[in-house]
Amino acid sequence: MSIRSLPSNDILKITSSQVIIDLKSIIKELVENSIDAKSSKIEITFVNYGIDSISIQDNGVGIQQQDFPTLCLRNSTSKLVNFDDLNSLSTLGFRGEALNSICSLCKQLTIVTSTEADYPKNFSLKYNEAGELRDNKSKIGGISNKSGTLVTIEQLFSNLPVRLKNFIKNSKREFHKAINFLINYLLIYTGIKFSVYHINNSKKQLILSSRGGEKTTIIDNLISMFGNNNNKNLLEINLPINEYLKLSGHISSYSFGLGRSTQDRQFLYINRRPIIMKNLSKLINEVYKSFNNVQYPIFVINLEIQSDKFDINLTPDKSMILLHKESEILQLIREKLIEFYNTQDKVIIP
Ligand code: ADP
Ligand code: MG
Repeated sequence: MSIRSLPSNDILKITSSQVIIDLKSIIKELVENSIDAKSSKIEITFVNYGIDSISIQDNGVGIQQQDFPTLCLRNSTSKLVNFDDLNSLSTLGFRGEALNSICSLCKQLTIVTSTEADYPKNFSLKYNEAGELRDNKSKIGGISNKSGTLVTIEQLFSNLPVRLKNFIKNSKREFHKAINFLINYLLIYTGIKFSVYHINNSKKQLILSSRGGEKTTIIDNLISMFGNNNNKNLLEINLPINEYLKLSGHISSYSFGLGRSTQDRQFLYINRRPIIMKNLSKLINEVYKSFNNVQYPIFVINLEIQSDKFDINLTPDKSMILLHKESEILQLIREKLIEFYNTQDKVIIP
């Protein structure tokens, strides 16, 4: 058979399914967009476990009219101008792939948005499969925030029959995976008031929420999500590791035996981006076990790293990283963590 080019719509579907593999990855992209838009309030609603629709309303900066036509086109982003900018990046998104991918994987993507300059005028935008603007209706009023964006996705995976069948079959599991992933953001973004709803058979249920505001702490969020148990007495940790890396957050005290029998309450971030770093998680567990060998610690730990000292581009969902001088850094973290437990924890032994 001779070599031929694929039709562009098919290429889109194939490549999009690398960014958007499941419900969780959609939620991740949408929440990160709302965070990048400097929102202090984010409301997410799943209808029928996300099968019928998913919507996310924020009170962020909104989208400017000049950006409407390019918003959902491939590699269209307001966050990155060239590759060098990656080294000073402060946003969660930068590739301009998410909205474009979502367009090609759902029946309809609708965006209602207003900027402070446009308010109370707002725009309802509809995009086609390729991410091209197909409809733009403006009206005055009817929105509660001074600026913000509402993104609604209807019938996810409707044009990928196998993926859709699988999604419907496993919808409850997929839904819970997405909810559990959302907890990562609810915990660490203390200034944002999150509300997550599920509508099923016309009944609206609040699934998750956080208080937001300046005074809310990670501990408040842990308690509201998991109850008082053990979370109240976590130790605050604040370890400068080297000149470009700082480790901070909260972790179980070993002396009170306030850990858990499982590793299910461990949250790791890099610059507040939820991350999978198996070797670091393992290290923390090992150090903790050397003090209390029956339990695993609860922790919410953020590594603050200068953005030119790691590479986030390993996987499409940016959930793994490549750290500059990784083994050296891990060794330093191990030493400082042991020192922390040797000094800090003893202080609170009654
Ligand atoms: P990226 O986040 O990598 O830039 P996306 O496809 O996720 O790419 O989004 C494309 C662009 O759409 C963003 O760069 C941003 O300008 C705009 N955008 C998306 N969601 C929102 C939102 N909730 N509020 C404001 N702007 C948004
Ligand atoms: Mg994005």
